[in-house]
Amino acid sequence: MRIIEPTFAILDEFDHIGLAEHIERCGRICYKSEERIDADSALPFVRKMLQHQHNSVLEMAVLTLQAECQDKGLINSFFACLPRFLHIDRPGPTSLLITGSIRAFRELWLQCPHELLVQALFEFLLARHPVFFEDLPKDSPSVPGTDVHISVRKVPLAEVDTLPPSLRARHRFLAVRFIVNRAVTHELVRHRPCSFLQESQRYCRYSSDRFGNEVSFIRPIFFKENSPEFNLWQQSMEECERAYLQLLETTSPQAARSVLPNSCKTEIIAYANFVQWQHILALRCSPAADPSMREVMLPLRQELCRRYPEHFTTVGAGAV
Ligand SMILES: Cc1cc2nc3c(=O)[nH]c(=O)nc-3n(C[C@H](O)[C@H](O)[C@H](O)COP(=O)(O)OP(=O)(O)OC[C@H]3O[C@@H](n4cnc5c(N)ncnc54)[C@H](O)[C@@H]3O)c2cc1C
Repeated sequence: MRIIEPTFAILDEFDHIGLAEHIERCGRICYKSEERIDADSALPFVRKMLQHQHNSVLEMAVLTLQAECQDKGLINSFFACLPRFLHIDRPGPTSLLITGSIRAFRELWLQCPHELLVQALFEFLLARHPVFFEDLPKDSPSVPGTDVHISVRKVPLAEVDTLPPSLRARHRFLAVRFIVNRAVTHELVRHRPCSFLQESQRYCRYSSDRFGNEVSFIRPIFFKENSPEFNLWQQSMEECERAYLQLLETTSPQAARSVLPNSCKTEIIAYANFVQWQHILALRCSPAADPSMREVMLPLRQELCRRYPEHFTTVGAGAV
């Protein structure tokens, strides 16, 4: 068995890659198959996810669109269809700023194909990113009096970063990878408006060479090294690992994982806008939070304060 420290990494290098690449890099965390990433692997990976309806992977890339529409009635009608999982602002009477994941835009089209604004967004997205939308039905119901011009453009991330803080907080997304124990990932995934992908104990076989033929555990913050409590914990992990490896001789990883404990190392990527990160940090840096959660959230807050002071300096302040 291996004992490792919990860590986090802000994946801002992912901000500058394509949407399909972003999805692949996040998606492969489930299978821990990152070694299969090459210059041509992103599109086949996305197609496979679509085919298998592994839809949460499609939440792992967002884009911001700006739509201009002179007909305010059409804008009202768009809002009346209650678009879900999209962040929508109206910076001017005829202008909309819309941020959402590939999944959210796909489902918007499926749910509201009769809306002219939705049709314009879909046409733009289909032309620009066919891989994500080409499998969807194309025929939109015709609407009488449809000669209104709606223009759509993609808002680059650099431009999102120049939005006024209240708008930027809603439209700016950030991915963070945590390597933590399974109890912490259970707590993290309770943050419903965020998107998550995590290492799957159903698919990962820790007896294989790429995992070093062993199970990795996160060092518990609660016990001092060599204390009786730590020694008991370590002995217990060794027993779990022994049972897991023995079960794997005759069963699958999804069956053998039944004996894996909370301390098991798990990688998880959380993807959310700044508003949700503020909410997570406010809750998870608090002295009332799980110490194992605070162990990664306090340094994450510090790093986000350094990078984006106007958004994070006051969040969870005093949580030391
Ligand atoms: C110290 C601490 C102790 C905890 N103890 C327990 C425990 O004993 N048992 C337990 O089950 N959980 C526990 N939790 C988890 C907690 O109940 C929340 O599930 C978790 O913190 C997620 O936060 P959230 O509910 O604010 O919302 P998030 O899911 O992060 O949502 C953020 C925002 O989304 C909106 N939202 C999302 N979904 C809905 C919805 N369905 N309806 C309305 N608004 C919605 C709300 O505006 C909310 O503010 C604990 C959390 C903490 C920090």
